[in-house]
Amino acid sequence: MSDFIVGLTGGIGSGKTTVSALFAARGVSVIDTDEIARQLTAAGGEAMPVIVAEFGPGITDGAGALDRNAMRRLVFSDPGARQRLEALLHPRIARIALQACAAASTPYVILAVPLLVESGGWKEYCDRVLVVDCDEALQVKRVMARSQLAENEVRAILSAQANRAQRQAIADDLIDNNAEPSVLAAAVDALHLRYLDLARQKLAAKTGAKC
Ligand code: ADP
Repeated sequence: MSDFIVGLTGGIGSGKTTVSALFAARGVSVIDTDEIARQLTAAGGEAMPVIVAEFGPGITDGAGALDRNAMRRLVFSDPGARQRLEALLHPRIARIALQACAAASTPYVILAVPLLVESGGWKEYCDRVLVVDCDEALQVKRVMARSQLAENEVRAILSAQANRAQRQAIADDLIDNNAEPSVLAAAVDALHLRYLDLARQKLAAKTGAKC
């Protein structure tokens, strides 16, 4: 059971997925809140009955999954719809994520929360917040290279997210991802040792307190 949570965040295209994979390659459990949200809103997903009850069957695709385009249109025409959807999803995501953290068998876990700054509440579960950061121009270039999005579309997503200064303000640790990917491994190695040590210290403090 793991009792040390490292919240991992960063803007779109900053390198969260790449960094998560490096921690996973070192045997660390990675829990991804986006992945949990996808499972909850897939066909047969746990959140689908309440989402349909709230928004009607028009919000689903033919298979019964959340129709993301329909949801985007709804949010566009009704700003309150996003909050209603989040009110249904967030408590479920948090419950599943925290259960997975507790069940993990590694000394610490990486809890990947893309919107950790924007969706308040996550920080209180984290023993440490790790931010992956790079220049905005690189974010745009990397997202365009991996997707079909045009520059103005990527910039629109960026401007809807927290900015770099807001993320840096809550960071306990920061990975600079402006260089080639090979540089990341050394940064992750150093953080991995640090988190193992901090997790050990937390466990020792807890065990000591019980004696
Ligand atoms: P996020 O999960 O934060 O959106 P990703 O880890 O998916 O970001 O990275 C975005 C894209 O940029 C991916 O295609 C990834 O392979 C690439 N990438 C990540 N880090 C680097 C880097 N240091 N140099 C070049 N490309 C990178």
